Amino acid sequence: MRAINHAITGAIIGLAVTNPVALPLAFASHYVLDSLPHHGFNGESFPNLKLFNVLLAVDILLCVALVAVLSIRHPEYWRLAALCAFLAASPDFMWLSDFRRILKGRSAQNINNRHAAVRLHHYVQWFQRPIGLIVEVAWVIGATVVLVTLLYQR
Ligand SMILES: [Zn+2]
Repeated sequence: MRAINHAITGAIIGLAVTNPVALPLAFASHYVLDSLPHHGFNGESFPNLKLFNVLLAVDILLCVALVAVLSIRHPEYWRLAALCAFLAASPDFMWLSDFRRILKGRSAQNINNRHAAVRLHHYVQWFQRPIGLIVEVAWVIGATVVLVTLLYQR
């Protein structure tokens, strides 16, 4: 899933749970969302690196905007929500080494030679193809409605 979908889901968990139990729940939510069909290029190869970089930049900007909205709207547990947003998106940092390899024109490291946590993350994403964008758009709309409801309920 795109980082913004992970981050919004994490923020919702933080705002709804309102205690530190939200932290591991937000982290675990990453794997639940990744198990849904979603947008992607099936792991090892990015057919269009420029498109990938644009989508990544948009994702990062949206995540920064999410934290800005949380801090400006300032609900009681906004710091927990921001931390949960980060934790929910954080497992994708394990792909940074592959991203660096691809930027250098090399292929991603063979998944079978990776740590068990990386293999689990890879295999839970059984469907990541461009058509998965439909699920991503539906999720971001639904999650935004829930987030706005939580932000304006008091
Ligand atoms: Zn992931």
